[in-house]
Amino acid sequence: MTQTQPLIVGVLALQGAYDAHVKTLTALGATPRLVRLPQDLDGLDGLIMPGGESTTMLKFLERNGFFSILQTWVRTIPTFGTCAGAILLATHVEHPPQRSLAALDITVERNAYGRQIDSTILTAPTSLPGGPLEMVFIRAPRIRLTGPGVETLATRDGFPTLVRSGHLMAATFHPELSNDSRVHQLFLNLVRDHKAASMKEPK
Ligand code: GLN
Repeated sequence: MTQTQPLIVGVLALQGAYDAHVKTLTALGATPRLVRLPQDLDGLDGLIMPGGESTTMLKFLERNGFFSILQTWVRTIPTFGTCAGAILLATHVEHPPQRSLAALDITVERNAYGRQIDSTILTAPTSLPGGPLEMVFIRAPRIRLTGPGVETLATRDGFPTLVRSGHLMAATFHPELSNDSRVHQLFLNLVRDHKAASMKEPK
């Protein structure tokens, strides 16, 4: 990367698989920061919401006003939701319906591929440069619908697994569990471009 200052990227660390994201971000030259409280969001250039259990994350978020602060925050700051994090970002959640930040125009079906034992690793084509992408699915949701302006970058059985819309990204798999760092690099590029654009805006 060519930016002079490292990008400061938060990793929501209420529950779930946040450690591996920290390692991948560090390897790519970003400065990760664990986010456990609303004030941890201050000064971040971007945020990753990891996989885990979205219901448990919601319970933590619903304490001390964090949910509504995060809801406002993700409207303008680059955010990448993986698996449970994608469920939190979605506009609509099914199976069963669940409250969400409703920032990214996708409809997700939770646990769409069966139980834990059905978790799987697939290698599939992607529009990212560099050839097929390994995707680790763990009790994964399925993106059933995407709204206008949502770009699909990889699929499984015809359903999107990696999407981008403006400053937001979501993956139904766990890119932090593969050695391939292209998905995190894509997010860091988005964060860098967003930061550069917002520094040019008249104050
Ligand atoms: N099944 C989980 C949920 O509904 C997501 C699984 C994951 O993040 N690996 O929140």
